[in-house]
Amino acid sequence: MSTKTKANLTILEHPLVQDKLTQLRDRDTNPEHFRRLVVELSQFLMYEMARNLKTKEVQVTTPLQKTKGRRISERVTLLPIMRAGLAMLEGASKVMTSAAIGHIGIYRDKFVQDTTVEYYFRLPKDVEGQRVVVLDPMLATGETMVAALSRLKERKIGPVSLLTILASKAGLKKVTDAFPDVEVFTLSLESVLDKNGYILPGVGDAGDRIYGTVGLEDL
Ligand code: URA
Repeated sequence: MSTKTKANLTILEHPLVQDKLTQLRDRDTNPEHFRRLVVELSQFLMYEMARNLKTKEVQVTTPLQKTKGRRISERVTLLPIMRAGLAMLEGASKVMTSAAIGHIGIYRDKFVQDTTVEYYFRLPKDVEGQRVVVLDPMLATGETMVAALSRLKERKIGPVSLLTILASKAGLKKVTDAFPDVEVFTLSLESVLDKNGYILPGVGDAGDRIYGTVGLEDL
């Protein structure tokens, strides 16, 4: 079961997915468990996103006879936004084993409003015209995502899908206003962003919970 609530937005409502999301929200979930849940949830998101990929008919020979089957015929590039997106890459690439992989290092500077900083940006060769899947567990203010998508668009990439565990309404609007063709797959659409840009009720800081780290301000 998955629900497409409106054009270009898919919210996965499957009981297995929602059960894992609730475990993820729990503040007592430790980093090892949290990381495993992000990997598993990313597999479900990738599975759902892959539903409409193009396939072609091929011949295959089983141990018993020849038959016809289907293989995915589009090249997909997975692009995690570091660092929290790396745990999603682990899950998505388990499902989409043939995908090419790039890395995006962009973050929102907490101290300078409306500023995003790019520190790393590597795409696979020949990404032009290819389908890309951007991975970031939290679509919060949307600023990082808009910055990442703007950079990607400079490379004339093909269709873009965004896999995210939680999306805020404001972040989703920001992204889809700027890039109406982007397809978004998420597990929950959340209404509130706090003054620091955290999603409420959310899961907290996804990167810190995945890696068991604390932010500089908590030291
Ligand atoms: N980034 C996070 O890790 N969590 C949020 O709630 C928002 C941005």
